[in-house]
Amino acid sequence: MEKGNLSIHSENILPIIKKWLYSDADIFVRELVSNACDAILKLRKLSDLGEAPNLPKDEKYEICVRTDKENKTITFEDNGVGMTADEIKEYINQIAFSGASAFLEKYQDKIGADNEIIGHFGLGFYSCFMVADKVQIDTLSWQDGATAARWLCDGGIEYEMSDGKRTSRGTTITLFVGDEHAEYLEEFNLRATLTKYCSFLPVEIYLNPPTDEYVEKVETAEKVEILDADGEKLDEKDEKVEKAERKPLNDTSPLWLKSANDCSDEDYKAFYKQVFMDFNEPLFWIHLNMDYPFRLKGILYFPKLKHELEYIEGQVKLYNNQVYVADNIKEVIPEYLLLLKGVMDCPDLPLNVSRSFLQNDGYVKKMSGYISRKVADKLNSLNKKDGEKYQSYWDDISPFIKYGCIKEADFYDKIKAAVLYKTTNGDYVNLEEFLARNAEKTGKTVFYVSDDQLQAQYIKMFKEQQLEALYLTTKLDNPFISYVENYEREKEVQFNRIDSDLSTALKQDKAATEEETKQQEEVEKLFQEILANKNLKVQIETLKSESISAVVLLSEQVRRMQEMSRAYGGMESLQGMFGGDAETLVLNRSNKLVQALFKLKDEQSRRDDTELISRQIYDLAMMSHKPLPNEQMTKFIERSNLILERIL
Ligand code: ADP
Ligand code: MG
Repeated sequence: MEKGNLSIHSENILPIIKKWLYSDADIFVRELVSNACDAILKLRKLSDLGEAPNLPKDEKYEICVRTDKENKTITFEDNGVGMTADEIKEYINQIAFSGASAFLEKYQDKIGADNEIIGHFGLGFYSCFMVADKVQIDTLSWQDGATAARWLCDGGIEYEMSDGKRTSRGTTITLFVGDEHAEYLEEFNLRATLTKYCSFLPVEIYLNPPTDEYVEKVETAEKVEILDADGEKLDEKDEKVEKAERKPLNDTSPLWLKSANDCSDEDYKAFYKQVFMDFNEPLFWIHLNMDYPFRLKGILYFPKLKHELEYIEGQVKLYNNQVYVADNIKEVIPEYLLLLKGVMDCPDLPLNVSRSFLQNDGYVKKMSGYISRKVADKLNSLNKKDGEKYQSYWDDISPFIKYGCIKEADFYDKIKAAVLYKTTNGDYVNLEEFLARNAEKTGKTVFYVSDDQLQAQYIKMFKEQQLEALYLTTKLDNPFISYVENYEREKEVQFNRIDSDLSTALKQDKAATEEETKQQEEVEKLFQEILANKNLKVQIETLKSESISAVVLLSEQVRRMQEMSRAYGGMESLQGMFGGDAETLVLNRSNKLVQALFKLKDEQSRRDDTELISRQIYDLAMMSHKPLPNEQMTKFIERSNLILERIL
């Protein structure tokens, strides 16, 4: 048996690391700035630990990025730990050796789990060769008596090292940018990239900050004010003053890192505007902060709904220790939450994540589940603690929650107590409360309204009998109630649209006599003849409400089938199969008009009137069920006029 170490031929592997490890060329900005940031964080840490006692206490740490179009260079400068020649040999010359990991290992006990160091794999530095033909490092270590070092490499496997000229502590990385990447020399482009990745890094970042000489020039120039003819300051001058201002481009302590108790509503709204450039105010937000089983901090904003869910465009930005990674990574963030806007910082996630890595990672899958649970917890506690407020949000947030429930059974299980339903009594309750308070009257059947105008007649009947129904008026409710029925099948809950079946509570509860059964058959035949529809079903019931002559019912199951077939492209044949014979005309025996019709129908001489009234009753019932087709409507109006004329 032979054992050994695999070796790597650097000439072949280097191009892979430089070109293909990262998908986007602009990643080099993220990598170099995060290295500079790490260098400063390390120094701060050392200072905190008392290992660097000679540092001035009020040291101002910063990162400066500068472009030089003439010399075609970009420089990244920091005043962090710097490197000794030995450290360059260890962490730069040896690929995939990470000074960040080494640092964490060394100070493991003292730093604990709460580290902010970004680096991890020891590969990021080489991403600079994606845009540079040549790279130079000038550095001076923080350690007492250190000598400056310089390193130079043109992208091959050879490098040059020599003593450097740097006199102040820190590191400058100079990229000699290749012609095909000249766009990065434009300040405008570089600013966009820096803003994308580095907007929330914990160390101040400056892009092409004004030199001291420039600031001095502008300041002295201000004393001799340049005025135009009307005595106004010249624009050009203002621009100069603005350029002389030193402003970092990042926010070093983003809101998500703060404790929710320290953030005001105004803070949340301002942060929302700043990050998403959206001037509509968010409805409310959830501030996430978890330590176990992994670290995550973030803010999720729920929008005020103006559109159907399908038109909502969400954006959830993922960060790793304040460094931007990507938007909408559905492997980490549950799909339904991607409809919201938000930021999430997961320091435990490897920064150079590739999608395929995430898809196959069990840990990442668990993260998504935990985020979901945490969101459910927050909503539940808001519902418990401040029910009134929660109810006022409900109409806007319910589509997201229902969508989440359909997508993730776990989420429904966690949130179901906070899934509310608006009732015809005007309050909001959860399913359990609704079932409990209606058990005596409607049992396990839950009646609901899908369109309060079309179903107004039924709602009125319900209210008259002190019955209650729910409002389920969005497109999502149809699949949602099927989901709930299935999920709660042990409870045998059945959702019925208010016009799909007559609640026993609406009618007198007594068995039909033989005579009544016979009468029903006769009346059914009569309507079938008059309306020329031999599939029409007619039922005679004694409703508690006398004022209603008739209603049309469509069985819940059939209607859902119809709606589904319509949603899947409206197959006519299917609709025909379930349509037609599915509607039942229910005549109300306690209504005067109906009673009169029953007598009238036996008088052969008044057949015309019988027809007239039957059609009118049918149309009236139909109208409160769904809009009448044009032709039927025209006839209805003609007939109504005729009836009025007769009275006169
Ligand atoms: P990582 O950041 O994952 O450790 P990199 O390839 O980005 O790997 O960098 C390799 C190492 O080089 C870093 O860990 C650090 O020790 C060193 N280094 C890179 N840039 C700087 C810098 N600006 N200041 C000090 N050390 C640096
Ligand atoms: Mg790095």
